[in-house]
Amino acid sequence: MSSFHVHVTEVSAPGAERPWLTIRRVLSAESAPCLSPVLIRLAERHRQIACGRRLPLDKQCRACLPVITVTEVRRTTA
Ligand SMILES: [Zn+2]
Repeated sequence: MSSFHVHVTEVSAPGAERPWLTIRRVLSAESAPCLSPVLIRLAERHRQIACGRRLPLDKQCRACLPVITVTEVRRTTA
């Protein structure tokens, strides 16, 4: 499982429903080696890459599957 801790800052105009700027900062990232690497072929060369770089989320191994934890959300008006 890949684990990411993220800090989010949203800047919005006064009275607006949605922020016009969202800043996401990754505070820490931890990952483990892929459990089921995918074989890719390019110009007669073969190479194995982590399934997290190639497959959709529902087909990734549990080592590559990202878990994102938002540690803090700061909302400001500008
Ligand atoms: Zn994987």
